Amino acid sequence: MPELKVEIDSELHALSNCTWITYRPCGCACGALTAAFGDEAFATEQQAWQELFPLKRERDKYQRQGYRLRLMSWDRYLAEVDLAAKCPHAKGETTQQTLDAANA
Ligand SMILES: [Zn+2]
Repeated sequence: MPELKVEIDSELHALSNCTWITYRPCGCACGALTAAFGDEAFATEQQAWQELFPLKRERDKYQRQGYRLRLMSWDRYLAEVDLAAKCPHAKGETTQQTLDAANA
């Protein structure tokens, strides 16, 4: 398929050189989704949400809790995002209960 281009911060990037980063409500990154590979492409935030959470009620839940997706180039991701870093805001493992409490 033709290479898709996407504009981020007024720079053009090949979609296959980009990744969607998932951010927790506290602002820490917690996941990455390659924006394009093979015949798959997630060019819009909505498409990325649908790939990460196929069920609408899941998407609604995470969006309500304040999870955010952001598209960035791999270069930027490698320079700025460390998915292995521990979230300093969570006390221990984040459970559904603490998510609900934070959301109350
Ligand atoms: Zn955090």
